Amino acid sequence: MSAQPLLNGLYIDGQWLAGSEHLQVINPSTEGVLAQVAGGGPEAVEQALCAASAGLARWSHSSGAERAAVLRRIAAGVAERREQLMHLQSSNNGKPQFEAAMDVDDVIATFEYYAGLAEGLDAAQDANVALPSEAFSARLRREPCGIVGLIVPWNFPMVTTAWKLAPALAAGCSVVLKPSEVTPLPELELAAIIAGSGLPRGVFNLVCGTGLAVGAPLAADPRVAKISFTGSNAVGVQVMQRAAETVKGVSLELGGKSSLLVLADADLDLAVELACGGGFFNAGQMCSATSRVLVADELADEFLLRLKARAEAIRVADPFDPEVEMGALVNQAQYRRVQAHIEEGLNVGAKLVCGGGRPAGLQQGYFIQPTVFTEVPLDSALWREEIFGPVLCVRSFSNEQQAIEMANDSEFGLVASVVGADAAHAEQVANALQAGLVWINAPQVIFPQTAWGGYKQSSIGRELGPWGLQAFQEIKHVIRAR
Ligand code: NAD
Repeated sequence: MSAQPLLNGLYIDGQWLAGSEHLQVINPSTEGVLAQVAGGGPEAVEQALCAASAGLARWSHSSGAERAAVLRRIAAGVAERREQLMHLQSSNNGKPQFEAAMDVDDVIATFEYYAGLAEGLDAAQDANVALPSEAFSARLRREPCGIVGLIVPWNFPMVTTAWKLAPALAAGCSVVLKPSEVTPLPELELAAIIAGSGLPRGVFNLVCGTGLAVGAPLAADPRVAKISFTGSNAVGVQVMQRAAETVKGVSLELGGKSSLLVLADADLDLAVELACGGGFFNAGQMCSATSRVLVADELADEFLLRLKARAEAIRVADPFDPEVEMGALVNQAQYRRVQAHIEEGLNVGAKLVCGGGRPAGLQQGYFIQPTVFTEVPLDSALWREEIFGPVLCVRSFSNEQQAIEMANDSEFGLVASVVGADAAHAEQVANALQAGLVWINAPQVIFPQTAWGGYKQSSIGRELGPWGLQAFQEIKHVIRAR
C-alpha cells in the first residue's frame, strides 16, 4: 500500500467523491510520488453532466451582479490560500516559487476582471438596436451558451483553468472541468476554494482523469454546448473531430513556434534578458516560448557571446531554492521528448552553443540545462516544431524583411517579440508579424484585458478580454413589430 495520500478526484454536484481510476502524481524535482488521486472515467463524466444540467437551470438565470459576487469570493479565496497554491504549483509542476507566485496572482486578477465584466452584463442586457425602420424594434441579449467542457494542460495549472472558468461562470454557464492528469493538485485546491464560494451546486464540476477516459467522452457528449481546450495540436484535432459530430462550439489554444527579433538598433543586454525569459521561463514549457531568436547580422556574434554567458549562469535548481531561476521539466516523458529534440538537432548539424544535458549536481529530477543552438537548418524539427523545453535556436539575418519572413514561416502564429530602440520602427515590424500578441522591448507580460490566442494552427478563438467572455455566450436578438 502506498504511504501517499489518496485524494478524491471528483467534485460533482457539490460533493467530493472518489473515482476508481488511481492517478499517481509526481514531484518532477525529486521524482517522488506526491499523491494518488482517485479520478474517474465516462461514468463520472455522466454524473458531472447531470449535475451541470441541473446547475445550469439556476445559474443561467442569475444576474451578472450575483455571478460577480461569487467570482470575487473565489478571487479572495485564492488570495487567502496564495502560499499553499504556490507550493502546489511548484511541487506538482516543478516551476520556481517566484513563477508560481505570478501564476497565483494571474488567477486572482482573472477572476476579478471577469467579475467586473459580469457586473457590466446587467446594464447591457436587452440593449436597444438601432434599425432603419420605424415599424420594428429590436433588442440584443447575451445568454450563456450552456454546459461547457474545459480541458487543460499541465504547464500552467490553474492559470489556463482560470482563463476559461472565470469567463464561463461570468457568462452564466455551468462547467465540467478536466485538469491535466499530470498536475491535478492545484486544480483540486482551486475546487476546494470554489466549494466554499457560495456557487450553487452543480454549476462547477471537476473530473480528474486521463484524456481518453474523461476528455474524450466530454468532447463527444451532445449535452455539452462548447469545449474549450488548451493543449497539444494532436489532441486539439481529436477534440475538434469529436465536437464536430454534435456541431458544438470549440475554442482551441494549441502550440506555438514563436520568434524574438533582435533589430540592428537593439539594446543587447535587454535582448539577452528577453531571449532568456522567452526561452527558459517555466523551463521553456510554454506555448508562447520564443524559441526562434533572429538577430541582426551586425549584433549576432556579440549577442551569442552574451547569451551563452547568461544561459550558463542561470541557476537551475529545486523550485524552493531561494536563488533558483529555472526548475525541472514536468515529467519523464517531457524530459525524454526534449532530450530527443536536442539529439536530433545535433544529428542534423545544428551547432550547440551551450547546455544540452543535465546540470551538474542534479542527479534526481527532470532537469535540463538552458540550451542554445545556432546554425539550425531551416527545415529541421528543431527549427520548425514546438520543443516545449529550455531550448533556443539562434539565427542571424541580413535584412529585416528576411527576418519577418523567417518568423512568419511557421504553421503556428501565437506570439512574437521585437527588441529595437526606434519605437516607431519596432511597431512596424510588430505589425508585419503573424501573431496574436507581440511584445516590444517587454517580457511576456499578460493582462486579463488583452487577448490570448494566435494565428494559423495556434488557436481557434481568443481567451481573456471581452473575447474570452463572448466565447461562452450566445447572441440573441428579439425583433418586435411596433
Ligand atoms: P495534451 O494535448 O497532451 O493534453 C491536454 C489536455 O487534454 C490534458 O488534460 C489531457 O488529459 C487531455 N486529453 C488528452 N487526450 C485527449 C483526448 N483524446 N480527448 C480529450 N482530451 C484529451 O497537452 P499537454 O501535454 O498537457 O500540454 C502541452 C501542450 O499544450 C503543448 O503542445 C502546448 O503548446 C499546449 N499549450 C498551449 C497553450 C496556449 O494557450 N496556446 C497553453 C498551454 C499549453
